[in-house]
Amino acid sequence: MDRIIIEARVNELATRNGNPHVPFLPGEIIADAKACHDAGAAIVHYHGRGGDGAPDHSAEFYLETNAGIRAGSDILIHPTLGYVANDADAMGRFAAVEEMMKSAETAPDFAPMDCGSVNVDWWNPETGRYDTTDLIYKNSTGTLMHFAERIAHHGLKPYLVSWNVSFTRQIEQFLKLGVLTAPAYICFCLTDEIIFAGHPGTVAGLDAHTPFLPQDYRCVWTVVNYKGDLFQLTEKIIREGGHISIGLGDYAYRDGARNLTNAEVIERVVAQARALGREPASVAETRQILQMPAVRIAA
Ligand code: ZN
Repeated sequence: MDRIIIEARVNELATRNGNPHVPFLPGEIIADAKACHDAGAAIVHYHGRGGDGAPDHSAEFYLETNAGIRAGSDILIHPTLGYVANDADAMGRFAAVEEMMKSAETAPDFAPMDCGSVNVDWWNPETGRYDTTDLIYKNSTGTLMHFAERIAHHGLKPYLVSWNVSFTRQIEQFLKLGVLTAPAYICFCLTDEIIFAGHPGTVAGLDAHTPFLPQDYRCVWTVVNYKGDLFQLTEKIIREGGHISIGLGDYAYRDGARNLTNAEVIERVVAQARALGREPASVAETRQILQMPAVRIAA
């Protein structure tokens, strides 16, 4: 079976209430990226955050962080476009990536495309009510086509996120249209506990995704559990040939009373994959599995 691509999702919008090891600032993210690479991760995904944890989607944050990650290792970089924290138009949401593409030192390797729209309000388990009631993660077909065109222009790999079957079906239509080209790298974003926009992070939740992978195009799939414990599914994913995207951004992973670091979470995935006969893919092997193009820096 293919080697397994492991992605470290180091921070998302997670607070430090659940686990104090969530990195916020560039220096913290850079250190975690290196540690996760050394533990066996081939990709790092992060969100810009201020010292108080608030989202920081300024281009400067991403330029500084990408350059620091590049200096530390060859781990592949997958930044966010800001999720619901960046409600700009298509051009505005992609503006930080355009800045990153001006230098090989700051260019990422992936740019995400969440291939549909969905309500992403936060449920509060303590009060039994929604904390928000108006958060829509909007990705119109036109916006996605703009992202796909810019991603191809820059020689980046589209990181295709599917929150439910309708997203996967849109990916298939984009493959048919030539908006996307195979192999498609598709991330099934399962959700639990405080967000119900994706399939549940269960066997049934994942099994409801995979039969809808486009049959006429080579697809490589990975799995996230946003706000849930992905270790409940990692053995299944490893056995079925999937790949794993995991980290403290999604869930406050612990070992008993001890808070794990992102690198320790990656070490656990590596150990489990090896025990089941799959070696972690190096960066070069990941590039090969995903047939990643060469990044083109603007003159
Ligand atoms: Zn993210």
